[in-house]
Amino acid sequence: MMPAFQLFQPDDLESAFSLLDKFGDRAWILAGGQDSFDWFKDRGKRPEAVIDIGSIAALKGVRETADGLEIGALTTLNDVINNDIVATSYSLLADAASRVASPQIRNVGTLGGNICQDARCWYYRAGMDCYRAGGNTCYADTPEGMNREHCLFGANRCVAVSPSDTAPALVALEATMVVKNSGGERIIPAEEFFIGPEVDIERMTVLRPGDILTAVRIPNTWANAEFYFEKVADRNTWDFPLVNVAAAIRVDNQVVSDIRIACGGVECVPRRLSVVEDIVRGGGKDDESARIAGGAASRNATPLNYNHFKIPLMENLVRRAVRDA
Ligand SMILES: Cc1cc2nc3c(=O)[nH]c(=O)nc-3n(C[C@H](O)[C@H](O)[C@H](O)COP(=O)(O)OP(=O)(O)OC[C@H]3O[C@@H](n4cnc5c(N)ncnc54)[C@H](O)[C@@H]3O)c2cc1C
Ligand code: SF4
Repeated sequence: MMPAFQLFQPDDLESAFSLLDKFGDRAWILAGGQDSFDWFKDRGKRPEAVIDIGSIAALKGVRETADGLEIGALTTLNDVINNDIVATSYSLLADAASRVASPQIRNVGTLGGNICQDARCWYYRAGMDCYRAGGNTCYADTPEGMNREHCLFGANRCVAVSPSDTAPALVALEATMVVKNSGGERIIPAEEFFIGPEVDIERMTVLRPGDILTAVRIPNTWANAEFYFEKVADRNTWDFPLVNVAAAIRVDNQVVSDIRIACGGVECVPRRLSVVEDIVRGGGKDDESARIAGGAASRNATPLNYNHFKIPLMENLVRRAVRDA
């Protein structure tokens, strides 16, 4: 049985902010609930107040803007996938969203929830008192710890990874996040929205109590570029990425004029591969450049006991992204 909480269902943002201000860190924002209900049912999180934002119409839908797209945070993953403009001009995001979980979860799960979801480390999810849960050890980073799914980069006490399939696509598309609270609005580049354990070990994003991610903006900078998304997981559906890659590439006269590429599942944040971008930009999309780019992707990787396989996996995904986009 879930621990009891007070449920609020505001239908406008102002009411949601006043509830969030009232309950502070004892409040929990509920969107599609696909991540949240796991926590509640496992008794891993026990909020005093659940603020269900599902009735706030302003947070739903895909809108064209003067310089791109704005996607309400409450838009379901299926509505993102099936939107004509996303599917034609920003298909990288549609491809990434269509690889999330299962059809049922994509019907209910929202883009905002997919971006804001918490770490999927087994120990943390099982309610163990690790660093991320406020304790003083990491159970995954021990000689016999189950760390097959964990990070290659950016370990800092915690070795969990960013589990989202849409996050690297949004980094590659140069998206920005619209975050609001009762005091105003901030616009944050996707790359800065996600934070690692060195910044705050108990959060995966810059969001603080009182904040709501209201929308994701995608500039038209990469509209209709060459795109590549690939995810490798243990199962083809209903499973998180071991590693995924998202790339947006502009090619003029067979020369790569620009590229943005990011991987998920390798660091606590979606990892933008600036080194790869620098190698590829100005060159061809042939197999040799792609091989060199793939090799550079894993530079400085520090594997744990059971995740060495992620190094060649990441290298091959990047190689294919550069060659086949
Ligand atoms: C079995 C299973 C398999 C899965 N497989 C994958 C997968 O392969 N790839 C993948 O990427 N994900 C996967 N997921 C995760 C799933 O996609 C996400 O949990 C889901 O998209 C979350 O969306 P939601 O709207 O249901 O979020 P919720 O559960 O409602 O919220 C998730 C978190 O985000 C916060 N939040 C939500 N919206 C906002 C907002 N607008 N502003 C501020 N905070 C907010 C909530 O407080 C909560 O902490 C899987 C989940 C399950 C249960
Ligand atoms: S990897 Fe992070 S979440 Fe997992 S046990 Fe270690 S500190 Fe906790």
